[in-house]
Formats: sequence, structure tokens, C-alpha cells
Amino acid sequence: MNCNEIINKLKTTQNADKDELIYLLDNITDDERETLRKNAQEVAQERFGNKIFIRGLIEISSFCKNDCFYCGIRRSNKNAVRYRLSAEDILSCCDKGYALGFRTFVLQGGEDSHFTDDMLCELIGEIKQRYPDCAITLSLGERSFDSLQRLYNAGADRYLLRHETACKAHYERLHPDGMSFDNRVNTLYKLKEIGYQTGAGFMVGSPFQTTENLADDLLFIKKLKPQMCGIGPFVPHKDTDYRDFEHGSLELTLTLLSIIRLMNPDILLPATTALGTIDFRGRELGILHGANVVMPNLSPSEHRKDYSLYDNKICTGEEAAECLVCLKNRMRSIGYEIVNSRGDYRQLNNKEK
Ligand code: SAH
Repeated sequence: MNCNEIINKLKTTQNADKDELIYLLDNITDDERETLRKNAQEVAQERFGNKIFIRGLIEISSFCKNDCFYCGIRRSNKNAVRYRLSAEDILSCCDKGYALGFRTFVLQGGEDSHFTDDMLCELIGEIKQRYPDCAITLSLGERSFDSLQRLYNAGADRYLLRHETACKAHYERLHPDGMSFDNRVNTLYKLKEIGYQTGAGFMVGSPFQTTENLADDLLFIKKLKPQMCGIGPFVPHKDTDYRDFEHGSLELTLTLLSIIRLMNPDILLPATTALGTIDFRGRELGILHGANVVMPNLSPSEHRKDYSLYDNKICTGEEAAECLVCLKNRMRSIGYEIVNSRGDYRQLNNKEK
């Protein structure tokens, strides 16, 4: 099959086998890329029209017990400035966010044992009580199955946990001994079983990544069927061993967004901050390639620069309101409109949720 035939197959069957995906990623021409993009944008527009969902991102802690080789807040980075938000800080971010129209809050952070189950359950309960019409998304790394169940019972609706790479050998080149690929994958299945709207995802162009790895990532998403998928380019961080690697490519990230949209038509797909970091119009391009979500930053401005996963991260100098206005304008410039709904997962022509 040639690239156009594979694109057509993706569009009509939402599937392709591993060899076809590898062939497509390695051989796609600019013209074919445009065909792929148009198809993906069309599928997204059938579901979401020109509406873009927003998630208010609150970066609750830069403490992390893990030591992921690529990440700027890894435990062994002695230059990282560590902070954690108090419950009051987090609630005040939600207050601001609610007034601005946000109906989903994402609490993300390093794996910080300071945030015990009891503490998080109380916080989740308080957010739900104040804003019953909002969804709560957690992105706090791997926790015990028991803990994930408790947080769900307390009212958390969604959980983001990127699988990072679907290849165990590659996972082990990105993470130190003691971090387990199997546990990451098992946790993702558990999250789905508990009932969370679950997000997986991976970095594009991470060190040592091959096209085969990316094909495996695409097939993993197809198999897991998460409700959300976060992908963005790897971006080096100056205080990590991977500082000298190039950032992931814009074109390749956009191509993958389009393929993910065609393979998983209903999936919630963000145009990520990392994409906006490697290109001034990265997030707009992401939307035009099939993404339908953006995640403006609601973290207190005094801490933003310290949640430094990679170099040159955008939106670290602004207030929440400014970030939102900026994104609204960016979306408007390409004919899209930000909406204030929770933005839950829906299956088209199928039962809800
Ligand atoms: N501790 C949480 C949140 C991690 S930060 C967890 O383990 O899930 C969120 C995401 O940022 C990560 O999943 C990773 O994919 C991404 N990330 C980290 N370092 C990065 C880098 N250098 N370049 C691009 N993305 C990075």
C-alpha cells in the first residue's frame, strides 16, 4: 500500500497494521500530509464543530520522588526550585478559574508523598462542593490501586497518566531502574476499570525513539481505548542528561495527532503546551490537525517558572486571565471558539460516556 491508500484505510476503518503505520510515518510527502490533515480535521469537526474544550491546569507540586531522565523536575535535579501549593492555594486557583469560565480543573504534579490520600480526598470533596458542575482531573503519576479508587470515590472524574512509550526497552532508556513499564501500563488499565475517564499519551522525538516505537504507541492507544490522549514533542531540559538531544519535530507531532484522530475519532486530544513551545503557532496547528482541547495554565504566576519540565516552557509569565484571552484569540484566528463546558468524552452515534 502507498501512503494515500493507508490514509484512506485509516479514514474508512480507523485502523492500520504496524507495518503500514511505519511505512506511512517514514514516507509521507507534504501533499499526503495535507490530505491526512484535512481528513483528521474533518473527523474532529464532525464531533466537535468549531468548538474547543478548555482545561484549567493547576501545577500543584514540583517535588517528585521519581527520576525520569528527560524531566526537569526529576528528583536528582539539584537546581530545580521545589514548591507545593496548599489546599487554600489550589482552591483559590479554582475560584479564579471558575469565574473565567473553566468547568474542568486538572491537578498535576510530581509524585509528591506530601499529598496523602486523606488530604486529596478532602480537597476533591471541597472542590466538588464548591463547583458541582465541574470535572476534576488528576495527573499525579502512579499511585496504588487502592489510592486511585479512594480518589475516584471522593469525586475525581478523570486521570491523566501518559504511558510515555509503549515499548518496554525504550521505557527503560527513559527511566531509571525501579520505575516499571508494566506498572505504568497496568495502572492505566486499572484507571479505566475503576471508571475514570482516562488519558494516556507519549512524547514525540524522545531520545532513542524509533518509528517502530511510534507505531507501537499508536497501536497501544487503539488497544487501551483511553478517552484522552496527550502527545507533545520531547523538549530538552538543561539540567538533565538529555540536554543535548534535539526537540521532537513539529511536523511529526502534527502527523501523529492526525493519525490518532483518524484511528480514534471520539478521543479528546489536546494541542499541548510543549507543541506551543517548539513553534509559535504550535497549538493552532495542532487544532488544524485534529486536536480539540487546550489546557491554559491556572497555576499561581509566582510558581509557574518552577514547574519546569523542559526549557523555554511558554505561559510562565502570565496571569490565568491573560493566558485564557491569548488562547481565545489564537483559536479565533483559525475560526475556532473556546467553550465553557466540562467537555466530557462522548461517543458519536453511540451510548453516552
Ligand atoms: N508526575 C505526573 C505528571 C508528569 S508531567 C506523571 O507521572 O504522570 C506531565 C508530562 O510531561 C509527562 O507525562 C511527560 O510526558 C511530559 N514531559 C516531562 N518532561 C518532558 C520533556 N522534557 N519534554 C516534553 N515533555 C515532557
